[in-house]
Amino acid sequence: MSKYRADIGVFGGTGFYEFLTNVEEIWIETPYGAPSDKVALGEVGGKRVAFLPRHGKDHRIPPHLINYRANLWAMKELGVSRIIGPCAAGSLQPHIKPGDLVVTDQFVNRTWGRKDTFYEGPIVTHVSPADPYCPEMRALAIEAAKEEKINVHERGTVVVIQGPRFSTRAESQEYRSHGWEVINMTQYPEGYLARELGICYVNIALITDYDVGTLEHPEPVSHEAVMIAFKQNIEKLQKVLFRLIEKVPVDERACQCADALKSARG
Ligand SMILES: [Zn+2]
Repeated sequence: MSKYRADIGVFGGTGFYEFLTNVEEIWIETPYGAPSDKVALGEVGGKRVAFLPRHGKDHRIPPHLINYRANLWAMKELGVSRIIGPCAAGSLQPHIKPGDLVVTDQFVNRTWGRKDTFYEGPIVTHVSPADPYCPEMRALAIEAAKEEKINVHERGTVVVIQGPRFSTRAESQEYRSHGWEVINMTQYPEGYLARELGICYVNIALITDYDVGTLEHPEPVSHEAVMIAFKQNIEKLQKVLFRLIEKVPVDERACQCADALKSARG
């Protein structure tokens, strides 16, 4: 166990650093290799927060090559019990507009080859992600977004694609036809691995664009356009994050996330 401690973990983009006070950056080694970067430890509203940019500080690691297990294990080493995992995402439905936030409640995994479990034997462990996101933190995230007067969707399914390429029109139309709302490349296995460790996880998806199969918007997605939209909206996402951090109780958890292993072994 590290001598450093934190209550809340945040995975996200680089714009977060300036808001942390008393920052100390540390490398954490894990049995699964190195995390994406140093962890920045600091304070927000009197709470100890550990911040780790999932793509690395200079955004050098593509979604399919992120060492998700090391990132999650680093948070566990710090004693983190709650994680906030904001991400940029595309919309698959016309009513979910660029600039909106979606507090997702389900994921569909369409990635492959990613290391997505801590339990590789000899004790066989089957963890259920039936409801993969922490209900207590989801409610607080929705509340925080409403207080900031941001258009927030209170639920949504995110389909997680392998990347780094975007979807074809046919793929995008397939996802849309299932009724799924959001598309992204990093929500799996990040959130699920938190559950395996009994850590609460909430996702806040910042919509940057319409995916190519969303009917009224046939223009292909470009990384450039995504980054421009992300920068335009990052400030409001950060306001929600800080409000959420202030709201999250760290001494008591009203959810069942910590009990994930109770019925997972025979
Ligand atoms: Zn929870």
